[in-house]
Amino acid sequence: MGLACREPLSVLQDVFGYDAFRGRQAEIIDSVCAGRDALVLMPTGGGKSLCYQIPALVRPGVAIVVSPLIALMSDQVAALRQLGVRAAYLNSTLDGPTQARIERDTRDGTLDVLYVAPERLMQPRTLDLLHGCELSLFAIDEAHCVSQWGHDFRPEYRQLAALADQFPQVPRLALTATADLPTRAEIVERLRLEAADTFLHSFDRPNIRYRVAERGKAREQLLDFIDREHEGQAGIVYCLSRRKVEETADWLNARGRTALAYHAGLPAQLRDHHQSRFLREEGVIVCATVAFGMGIDKPDVRFVAHLDLPASIEAYYQETGRAGRDGQPADAWMLYGLNDVIQRRRMIEQGNAPDERKAVERGKLDAMLAYCELASCRRIHLLGYFGETLQQACGNCDTCLNPPDTWDATRAARMALSAVYRTGQRFGAGYVVDHLRGVESERASSTGHDKLSTFGIGQAVDIGKWRSLMRQLIALGYLQVDHERFGGLRLAGDSKALIKGECTLELRVDRSARRGRSRLKKDLPPIEIEDEPLWEALRTLRTELAREQDVPPYVIFHDATLREMLARRPTTTAELEHVPGVGQKKRDAYGRVFVDTISRYQTHGG
Ligand code: ADP
Ligand code: ZN
Repeated sequence: MGLACREPLSVLQDVFGYDAFRGRQAEIIDSVCAGRDALVLMPTGGGKSLCYQIPALVRPGVAIVVSPLIALMSDQVAALRQLGVRAAYLNSTLDGPTQARIERDTRDGTLDVLYVAPERLMQPRTLDLLHGCELSLFAIDEAHCVSQWGHDFRPEYRQLAALADQFPQVPRLALTATADLPTRAEIVERLRLEAADTFLHSFDRPNIRYRVAERGKAREQLLDFIDREHEGQAGIVYCLSRRKVEETADWLNARGRTALAYHAGLPAQLRDHHQSRFLREEGVIVCATVAFGMGIDKPDVRFVAHLDLPASIEAYYQETGRAGRDGQPADAWMLYGLNDVIQRRRMIEQGNAPDERKAVERGKLDAMLAYCELASCRRIHLLGYFGETLQQACGNCDTCLNPPDTWDATRAARMALSAVYRTGQRFGAGYVVDHLRGVESERASSTGHDKLSTFGIGQAVDIGKWRSLMRQLIALGYLQVDHERFGGLRLAGDSKALIKGECTLELRVDRSARRGRSRLKKDLPPIEIEDEPLWEALRTLRTELAREQDVPPYVIFHDATLREMLARRPTTTAELEHVPGVGQKKRDAYGRVFVDTISRYQTHGG
């Protein structure tokens, strides 16, 4: 688009329609524009794309963007074209003639940005093509895919190291939302980025509200949560197993919600279809295993729900990070219960990983469990895990908003631990709870356990509280699950000291997820009744425009942009200039129809 030699800030304003850079975007862009390599670590939704898209427009030549996400390339390119950026992609989904045309455009220098799958980039044919062109930069997106220890290892990423020798004069920019130190070091080494400037961004996502609730009837709790807080909005529901994914989606559909299943066992075509419906339609819920989500840059995912415990804080943070990329309020909502603790531990113990690996996994699980059991600010704990200090409690997580009550569980814990000990340290939590409550059974009498002093000692306490106590004792390491012996519980950690009365134990009182919540300043303000007709009209217009061009609605305008229009009611295209997300190209293309719609409601509504 002939923008060479323009200032980054004016590109941001004119092309993308945003006022100012966020966080360290400006520094990163300056560094790349000056021809230096960079490593960018930013949380999902932090704004990584602009870090290469703007230099791509400021520097002469075509920018090569390496991405493993073939299925999403066409949407990414469509979004750039909406902004007037000359973008294209090369991957295995293209037919011969299209490929030839894009190669020609690349050679002729008529492209600003070219997305390429890594295996395609390293083919001699592509490298030859690029050697004949002027290149502005290489952006290596999802750079953690180079790491063998990460969860998204792609062997083809290893070959990208060769770019350093082959194109020494072209700046290379690696971007990722996975920030732990080993991964970071591996990216630097494997991609030969020793000379790169590192830009570590805060991983805080202040617009996401973190909540963990005790699991009861999980699906009902989920439905209740969706209905109360996210009716008609897009969200992701993560489940551990494929079967549960399908059952949950069916169950929601049977209740009139639009839910689609996504897991690696479905045919690729169906998976792509579901992904594309999630992106293109409004208010679709995807029920998925962890196979879903990388690279989904849908900005208006309003909630991410976990029906099962994730394996680690890294996984949890990445998955929940898919909510609220547009910066508007969003929820990370998780159910958690005794079974999670047992199931996750079993998965580790019975897995095939070598011992050192198991030790690492145990450590990660413990950190995750500690997170679930927190009585203090969740965000402080999450950021702390990534080595960041938050000075103050965040005010936007469940424990901040509604501090949990704690109780002195010393006596009850002593009873439970003694019961475990007396019954021979070979029974599971269910049996122990029954024992404490004095439930008569054949097993209790055949083992003689009904004669023990601990039998029925905890009759006065209800079953929910006992289960909560057992879960916390396991999560906190006072009890260990013995997976070789059918999940029996053993005393561990400081349990002896607790039994002997040498220490005390304070535990949180579980909260049911059903309890209502108050509306807070960080919620999205509801659309006023009198604004609703216009709001619906703007959304319908957006959907129609999107459908005509076969792109997702958010590629036309984000919700935040529509909300600004609603608030400001611009009636001339000139007035649209100050609405965030409206750049020159979009103003020319859509400004008229949007302001006309607004004017129509202005006269009706007064
Ligand atoms: P990431 O790739 O880091 O997950 P994106 O690049 O998709 O994040 O950006 C997330 C959202 O933030 C996008 O909707 C993008 O348009 C928006 N955004 C990025 N930078 C800015 C900015 N400087 N001002 C306003 N919005 C921005
Ligand atoms: Zn908090």
